[in-house]
Amino acid sequence: MADEDYFYHPLENIEDIDVFYDAVERTNLTKSLSPERPYTYWTIELYDQKNGIRGGGGLGVLAADTRRVAEKMGIPFVLLTPFYPSETQQIIENGEINDIHKDVDYHKFGYKFIDSVFVKCCNNICKLDVIEKKFNSTRIIAITEPNFGELYSGMSSSDHRIYQEVALGFGGYQALKLLGLKPAIMQLNEVATFFAALARLDELTSNGMDFYEAVVYTRKHTLYTNHTLVQAAEAQFSLDQFRRFVFPNLKSAAVRKWLTDKFDNGNIKLSSASIEIAELRSGVSKLHARVANYHDISGNKVKFKAITNGIDMDTWTMPEVLDYYHENSILDRVNYPTNDYADNLNRLNAETIRKFKKEGREILNKVLKNRPDHNGNILQFSDDDFIFDFKRRFVDYKRPDLAFRDSSRLRNILEPRNAHYILTGRIHTGDPVMPAKLKHILNIVNSDDYLKTHVHYIPDYDEELAYGLSCGSNVAINVPIVGLEACGTSWMKDVANLNLLISTHDGGVADAHMDDYFNVNGATEEDELDMLYQQMEDAISVWENDFDLEYVMMRQLRAFLPIVSGARMLRDYLDYLFPK
Ligand SMILES: *Cc1c(COP(=O)(O)O)cnc(C)c1O
Repeated sequence: MADEDYFYHPLENIEDIDVFYDAVERTNLTKSLSPERPYTYWTIELYDQKNGIRGGGGLGVLAADTRRVAEKMGIPFVLLTPFYPSETQQIIENGEINDIHKDVDYHKFGYKFIDSVFVKCCNNICKLDVIEKKFNSTRIIAITEPNFGELYSGMSSSDHRIYQEVALGFGGYQALKLLGLKPAIMQLNEVATFFAALARLDELTSNGMDFYEAVVYTRKHTLYTNHTLVQAAEAQFSLDQFRRFVFPNLKSAAVRKWLTDKFDNGNIKLSSASIEIAELRSGVSKLHARVANYHDISGNKVKFKAITNGIDMDTWTMPEVLDYYHENSILDRVNYPTNDYADNLNRLNAETIRKFKKEGREILNKVLKNRPDHNGNILQFSDDDFIFDFKRRFVDYKRPDLAFRDSSRLRNILEPRNAHYILTGRIHTGDPVMPAKLKHILNIVNSDDYLKTHVHYIPDYDEELAYGLSCGSNVAINVPIVGLEACGTSWMKDVANLNLLISTHDGGVADAHMDDYFNVNGATEEDELDMLYQQMEDAISVWENDFDLEYVMMRQLRAFLPIVSGARMLRDYLDYLFPK
């Protein structure tokens, strides 16, 4: 019993989802949300390749998953985002990463042209196409034009970026009006979408609402979701840029004045402005909400409501495993953990886990057929191979190189089990550090005859690779420097698909207890490294022993299923936005 209690971490107030829906009916939620008054979700990045939009990483995946979960839950939901007419793909040649640019045509992805809207920039009138795609209770409304450019092209404080952000905000707001929609709530998925809330404030004010009332109204209906840790690191825009790109789109002199007051020494951070325009503010994991260091204009520390990200289980869980969750009443129809999910997990046995892994390996092999590694080799794995994976954006704080600090020790862990280590992750275009780090890793790998054939870098990390690896590998490695990961969702896909998780206690992983997964910690990076290697050894031995495998897998699922459930996330948002 004591053991049970120790490992059992249900979220507060888990009810059956039908009870939840009943509550929704009775409260103001149904009055607040309707097809004409939808939940609106603004994002500069969407990662939804099926619908023609490739993002950069977790921010975009989260946006796509949030819409999919809303669709499943029947929530009137509109996602507003740019459709970028060009995207990059990464290839690797002789250890060098190169970007390839590819045109994308929205007509090929089933979008319907609605009409054009206009924004004013630098004495020009820019014409933007509004396109739309519907999915039951939800839709994607996208803003685009032939010269819109790529996601995150150029510097984050460049003219082109502010143009893209203004186009989404002001253009998107006009698009809503065009379609007869009034936002019940505006969720700003990071500050690049600030201009949407500004467009609303301007519209209310110029339509005759008292300015202060308009500020109060806009603030009450705007949620700013922060994914970043330090405000100081954020890019700034200048007053001159605002004079050219923003002010021409404002009708109200009062709003212009209000905005001008938010400048500090001729510059503005969009987070400062977002804090002023949004009374509702959230962070993306418990830890992140606690440590995000943001201050409002008066210098007061900003409080963020912790709403941990989740994933759309239907998108990311292999069908066999998802069926198992449903048939055993572990997840309900919207993939919310049932009341008895922890008890029902007790039936999961090693034989079943191994069967799923076999099926997952087939999925991975299918993906890898078209995805050669850095040496141009096509990899195919047998059921008996053992696979570690590290898959996430290649940024320094995630430490893709950590496992390679002591290559002989790494070899000594992998070789006895004939294990492979698959690395994948996109490097941000223009990143000054990571191309050299990747080269360094590949040099280490190439100078050891075992690692050379058992460590593989797969370029151009995307949804397909994320899915394939989470289905087909045995152990996932997630070792961000503690305090720097806001949430992370790659590891959630691993948990859903029965990979064992090795992780530092950071981001959304830290919503759970350190004993719920293979934890890596230490006073120094050397200590952490030592623990990483120990945990890799332990994870291998757990997979060799049925009893251990059952125990560890159940413990991991008990702790994490409520955390990774996208339905749990959306419900947390609804509870926050529409309190009973
Ligand atoms: C899930 C996913 C991510 C999320 O990555 P984190 O590093 O965990 O935030 C990024 N990119 C792709 C392609 C994904 O599928």
